Amino acid sequence: MSDCCAAPGLLPFEQALANMLSQISPITETLTLPIEQALHYVLAQDIASPLNVPPHDNSAMDGYAFAIESLLASKTLTLVGRSMAGSPFQGKCQLGECIRIMTGAKMPDCCDSVEMQENTSTDGEKVTFSQDKSFGSHVRKTGEDIKINQQVLSSSHKLTAVDIGVLASLGVVDVIVYRKLKVALIATGDELKLPGHTLRVGDIYESNRFVLAAMLNTLNVDVIDFGIIADDFYAIKAAFVSADKQADAVISSGGVSVGDADYTKTVLDDLGEISFWKIAMKPGKPFAFGKLVNSVFFGLPGNPVSALVTFHQLALVALTKMQNAQPLKRTHLMVKCTTALRKSPGRMDFQRGVLSVSDTGENIVSSTGSQGSGILSSLARANCFIILPSEQDKVTAGEQVTIQLFDHFL
Ligand code: AMP
Ligand code: MG
Repeated sequence: MSDCCAAPGLLPFEQALANMLSQISPITETLTLPIEQALHYVLAQDIASPLNVPPHDNSAMDGYAFAIESLLASKTLTLVGRSMAGSPFQGKCQLGECIRIMTGAKMPDCCDSVEMQENTSTDGEKVTFSQDKSFGSHVRKTGEDIKINQQVLSSSHKLTAVDIGVLASLGVVDVIVYRKLKVALIATGDELKLPGHTLRVGDIYESNRFVLAAMLNTLNVDVIDFGIIADDFYAIKAAFVSADKQADAVISSGGVSVGDADYTKTVLDDLGEISFWKIAMKPGKPFAFGKLVNSVFFGLPGNPVSALVTFHQLALVALTKMQNAQPLKRTHLMVKCTTALRKSPGRMDFQRGVLSVSDTGENIVSSTGSQGSGILSSLARANCFIILPSEQDKVTAGEQVTIQLFDHFL
């Protein structure tokens, strides 16, 4: 695969992604979890329904159940019993009779339709119906939600809160899921300080690990936090060796470019087979990927926006494959861009945009303004990426552009 417009020596974004994914093997270890602990885990089994949901015809209203012939013959029926949710009517009824019924209660065998109580009047023995009704009114049919043996969830599906409810409604007690990934996080840089500490001249507060840990929590992995490691060959090496022993994936930020203090490359050359890529994307050009002894390694650039965008667009996609989950689906739209955008051909841009609806009801996007790769607040203000292909030149206000809506990770 080549990209005619990528600057020489730069790897096209799609090629970097495909290359990386081809080297990722999904984990195979599974465990059995009670459904109440299974939120956001990836299913390792198909789930077929052991029963019909609902398991019996039942009333959708509080009111009266009857056979439709009874109501066709007379507007006043004799009340002969009650069917409550959990205590169904056990007896029999005849033509001309009706049963008091509550929402969710099993339909008596002798009834086929329900009228809501608001359209009736009663003296306690007789019930008078004010309206005609059709056969089957206000009855929820057996299996109308889920039929017995119907496949409800498939392997590789990541369980949502609603899925947990669906599993409970099927009477499922526990599920087989893939174990969580263990992901080690390392920030490198002598200038980085933890929030709460005083900054010396030249220092900045460390932020990449915080963003990445939060996004990894959303991915439902176990984060092993190695904190901030100084720009020191031995310290970096010790951190990587330990991270590789404990984790399925090791993620570092900073030190992957060509600065004097960028020891990460030297350390990694010692430890594994790592490719240091210059990807034709903006932000995020320097990016490293490869295999350590036990784990895979993602080396993100240090600049906060670059770290976040490469993590979101590349590492998250790879980690999702490692988890055995279905590929992430991201929503792309073509919309009018109301601001001019600076761009020159050669790299694929992930500019930060704000999607909104104009006074005339049209979807429009505008730039968040300055797009520097250190300007994290530009991402905080955005709700989408404006994705400009490699060959694209500057955008004039009013042109159509492709946007990618922020997903639940951002
Ligand atoms: P580097 O890739 O190490 O040369 O870092 C590039 C830029 O990103 C520098 O301005 C760093 O200070 C900054 N940077 C690196 N790591 C972090 C981090 N974890 N949090 C915030 N900024 C960082
Ligand atoms: Mg650095």
